[in-house]
Amino acid sequence: MPSHPGDGRLYIDGEFVAAASRRSGVVEEKATGREIGRYALGAAEDVDRAVAAARAAQSGWAGLAAPERGRYVRELGRYLEDRFGELVEQSMRETGGVRAKAEDEVGTSVRQLALSAVQVSENAGEILPPYKAGKLSLSRVVPLGVLGLITPWNYPMNLAMRAVAPGLAFGNTVVLKPAELTPVIGGQVLAEAAEHVGLPRGVLNVVTGEGPEAGWALARHQGVDMLDFTGSREVGLAISRAAAGELRDIRLELGGSNAFVVLDDADVELAADCAMVASLEFQGQTCISASRHIVQRAVADAYVEAVVRRAAALKVGDPFDAGNALGPLISRAQLDRLHRTIVEPSLAMGARLVTGGTYEGLFYRPTVLTGVTPRMPAFREEVFGPVIPVTVVDTEEEAVALTNGLPMLMNSVFTRDLIRGLSVAERLAAGEVHVNDAHARHGAENQMPGFTRRQWIGLQRTPLNLPDWATAPATDES
Ligand code: NAD
Repeated sequence: MPSHPGDGRLYIDGEFVAAASRRSGVVEEKATGREIGRYALGAAEDVDRAVAAARAAQSGWAGLAAPERGRYVRELGRYLEDRFGELVEQSMRETGGVRAKAEDEVGTSVRQLALSAVQVSENAGEILPPYKAGKLSLSRVVPLGVLGLITPWNYPMNLAMRAVAPGLAFGNTVVLKPAELTPVIGGQVLAEAAEHVGLPRGVLNVVTGEGPEAGWALARHQGVDMLDFTGSREVGLAISRAAAGELRDIRLELGGSNAFVVLDDADVELAADCAMVASLEFQGQTCISASRHIVQRAVADAYVEAVVRRAAALKVGDPFDAGNALGPLISRAQLDRLHRTIVEPSLAMGARLVTGGTYEGLFYRPTVLTGVTPRMPAFREEVFGPVIPVTVVDTEEEAVALTNGLPMLMNSVFTRDLIRGLSVAERLAAGEVHVNDAHARHGAENQMPGFTRRQWIGLQRTPLNLPDWATAPATDES
């Protein structure tokens, strides 16, 4: 039976099928609450079937020549590119992001596929200095096997793609469990692409469903060679604890409390421009959003004034209205978490609301809080919403120490002195630091590992270089 995204079916072993439970959930347009499709509520039984299909397909898929796998991967990219406009609008509806955000999401996915298709045809190993004379030692890249992917709702397509594209290109097969809030753009669209390009059955499987059911079943599955999880620290921690007890291979991409450091010689207008992107792009709901603004006292008033001037002028509403810079938050649960557990308690602890702090439906006004201290939730928690908490410090050392006091992914430092910026960047414990810039716009997706491992191979030349005791005694005939 032909399928279309949003018709509430799983994709297992090359077929669109209902969940074993026959249950499905509603896909909503976030700005309007309108039903725009359904997704199958897969669970353990469906995950079992998907992992078995991926397992059965893996050696055949890995056995294809690299250029042949590269061709499939390129064709997946072409399929998405041909439907670019349609997919951008699907993302806008499902995630609530504005057009530029959705174009970035789909565009990055297409680029990732193109990149992986090329990478797989590049150098596949190395010749190593042999340990002993007369030997030839090689190391070659081999697939891990079956990958389990669990992905979030904020950039659902490209956060899946950064594992799907290199994963498939390098000979792995995949079972993808997209977030339940974005099951079409994060999963079903990819299933349709796989069917369209004739990907061999079982190579890509998509099991939609709730985190604690389909997600947990995949996270714990013994048939998965590596589980790649992108999402919250809480779930990441639970997966990590379970995997530790079973010696399973996992990779976690989690959240943190990213800092945006403004030093006393910063160009505050530039910093404030960047702050809009760093804290407010996609309503602040990205893992790399700036969550804490740590500002030196000398420029604090000027910085807050510049930030408030910009934030207060931003329009919030339906992302399909091009005048709106911010769309809705993803869900009522996220809004409640932001407002009730971060903004309100921080205000009760003495923070000052300079602008925003109000909402209508899921539309939350860009908000600036000042007087935020390290004890407040606005400092300690990952804000994950359009809120700019400002904490004032006296010295550069204090800024560095406060920044490093919490887990983080990405920081920014603002200073007119580039050498000072680099020196502060070197002392910050984040995986990525930007000097006088806002956000991940440096092609970091190209650096994601290719879901392979190294396999060392030893070859023995003759005459054998073995200890005497291991060598067979000469026979009479010799
Ligand atoms: P989440 O952890 O609630 O959900 C992420 C995925 O995990 C979803 O597919 C969900 O269904 C699944 N899941 C939920 N409970 C599960 C369980 N018990 N077992 C297995 N799977 C389960 O996170 P979210 O709210 O979707 O995303 C927001 C978080 O993700 C933020 O903390 C953000 O920083 C982080 N994030 C990190 C990155 C990164 O690259 N580091 C990227 C985007 C988002």
